[in-house]
Amino acid sequence: MKKHNFSAGPAILPQPVFEQAAEAVRDFNGMGLSLLEISHRSPQFTAVLDEAQVLVRDLLGLSDAYEVLFLQGGASSQFFMTAMNLLDEKGKGGYVDTGSWSAKAIKEAQAFGPVEVVASSKASNYNAIPKGYPIPDGLTYLHITTNNTIFGTQYKALPETATRLVADMSSDIFSKPVDTERFDLIYAGAQKNMGPAGVTLVIVRKDALGKVGRHIPTMLDYRTHIKKGSSFNTPPVFPIYVSMLTLRWVKANGGLKAMQARNEAKAKLMYEAIDSNPLFDGTVAAAEDRSVMNATFNLIEGREDLFAPFLELCEEAGCSGVKGHRSVGGFRASLYNAMDLESVQVLADVMHAFTEKYA
Ligand code: PMP
Repeated sequence: MKKHNFSAGPAILPQPVFEQAAEAVRDFNGMGLSLLEISHRSPQFTAVLDEAQVLVRDLLGLSDAYEVLFLQGGASSQFFMTAMNLLDEKGKGGYVDTGSWSAKAIKEAQAFGPVEVVASSKASNYNAIPKGYPIPDGLTYLHITTNNTIFGTQYKALPETATRLVADMSSDIFSKPVDTERFDLIYAGAQKNMGPAGVTLVIVRKDALGKVGRHIPTMLDYRTHIKKGSSFNTPPVFPIYVSMLTLRWVKANGGLKAMQARNEAKAKLMYEAIDSNPLFDGTVAAAEDRSVMNATFNLIEGREDLFAPFLELCEEAGCSGVKGHRSVGGFRASLYNAMDLESVQVLADVMHAFTEKYA
């Protein structure tokens, strides 16, 4: 029986995508060859790469000022690649620190130029998105993590500033429409809402590049990958193909507005289940900061002994991946695009049954 997959990533993908991907591994488009054994420069694969780029552009409404790249190295490599390509001693990168991933981005950027942390929610264990802080003039960019996968917080509005934004959207890309014109660069590891692990989406504004003085190694220079259409070296063909299938699914299911409505309905159901339940507490301070993608919650103080019994009940009901990130403990239900409302209802019912038994 297929489980209800609440894993934070690698994560749930649409069932038809799994089936099409499996078939492409056996026989790609009736070629008599697997997708995994054909050249990345064959017309059959370059068509996949082209379609994936067009889908990204189309879904996000990107203007011609932007390039779409499919790279390797995970979102973690973008922590340094963004700064290496955009920042030097003449500039200053502003960063908002909203969790472990932001903190890693800050640490890596410091090697390439001055960095100012303009706001941080670290003191409250990242249980909120900072608001109302002054943003200094003259920043080269302001870096934000739009959804904090571990702490369950998410920006519901972009910071009010004329400064160009750079964003890690790993865990909420394609979950709702975005005002892309505000960004110089957007990056996202695919393995949450876009596809399997192994490819990283980078969307970069062309005129943001070429401004730093340093030598950039060829593989780490965005301009290399722009020039070579994400095929300077062998691209991750399978993750790109599966991402393309997932983006086709997003489009066929109504695009980003439809995804947003679907995701908000799931989040509403999930947070109602947490709030109405006397054994659980949400971890995020203000309701408006709660992530639509990753709902984090704990057992109430004094009932931590029920941790294993709750996870057992989840497993019995076919709900997988509900355990929180190892650094924070507790529980986390990830509600990415491909998850159905019915699966969230199953988890809500488990929470209810659990309370009936233990409260
Ligand atoms: N940023 C965010 C918001 C994440 O959730 C993650 C975890 N996948 C990362 C960055 C790191 O991504 P990767 O494992 O692709 O390097």
